[in-house]
Amino acid sequence: MYPQSFQELIQLLSRLPGLGPRSGERIAFHLLDNEEAGKLAGLIKEVKEKVHLCPSCNYLTEKEVCDICGNGRRNRTLLCIVEEPAQLEAIERTGVYKGLFYVLGGKISPWEGKDPSALPFSRLFTRLSQGEVKEVIIAVNEDFTALYIKKLLQKVPVKVTRLARGLPVGARIEYVDEATLLEALKNRSEI
Ligand SMILES: [Zn+2]
Repeated sequence: MYPQSFQELIQLLSRLPGLGPRSGERIAFHLLDNEEAGKLAGLIKEVKEKVHLCPSCNYLTEKEVCDICGNGRRNRTLLCIVEEPAQLEAIERTGVYKGLFYVLGGKISPWEGKDPSALPFSRLFTRLSQGEVKEVIIAVNEDFTALYIKKLLQKVPVKVTRLARGLPVGARIEYVDEATLLEALKNRSEI
């Protein structure tokens, strides 16, 4: 039997997404004689203490609000809805989008038992009802999520657009190259 703390480390690692008992054990041994393991432990602690979701857009931040929401030069009439922070990152990398974001933190998928109640739609609806946002860009991967947002937005007076169909079929926004994403943004169409 391994020492208790080592055994616990294996168990915790094994429960991480995409890992299992074998990979958990392999990583635990890797950490055992790795100089950066201490730094990793410190970083995990620091992230847990400092990083939280921006109360305005649900993106990650160490401040009261994130750098995007707190930037007075961003266009506050434009709101881009994404499923995950990775999609926000991809759109930011294009450098052309100057509006704000709203991160859902997931998708709607009835066959996986994920329904809209698990996502922060009511806060989104409240925000849109305040009237500052004039255009909502739906930049989500899942059609079901997009349809739900479209239906939800019928009750608020905003223009609703989607990224252009130039995106390859089935392409995930976070993995599309910058030039393609930039074109999809520029040529977005009203729905
Ligand atoms: Zn924010």
